[in-house]
Amino acid sequence: MNCIFCDILDGKRDGHFLYEDDSHVSFLDKYPIDVGHSLIIPRKHHETITDMTPKDVGSIFSLAPKIAKAILIATGADAFSLGQNNGKAAKQIVPHVHIHIIPRYNDKGTVWTKRQISNDAELSELAKKIRSALT
Ligand SMILES: [Zn+2]
Repeated sequence: MNCIFCDILDGKRDGHFLYEDDSHVSFLDKYPIDVGHSLIIPRKHHETITDMTPKDVGSIFSLAPKIAKAILIATGADAFSLGQNNGKAAKQIVPHVHIHIIPRYNDKGTVWTKRQISNDAELSELAKKIRSALT
């Protein structure tokens, strides 16, 4: 199966990793809505959360506060949003379950549809900062 996130998990594509455990990984979104936009995904390929057990859904969401806190510290963002889309009509682009953590800044009007391509060196530096803010 052709899945960008499975490729990242298999090391076939680069990812700027923030966190990993036996069942999940978190990395920076390559096309961030804003600085620090990150994803949490299950290692196991599921297309939507309705394909997962309630327990697995709970365990992936339970990582969000920990990772979001580190992102806020590292980026200086004022707030964050969580996003989790299921299905094409919901604008799920990669068919592998993922939770978006999107930092929000008081002085920026973040628009969901305006995504940018960030530079690899910047992402790598940012990922390092977030990893060191993870407790
Ligand atoms: Zn996958």
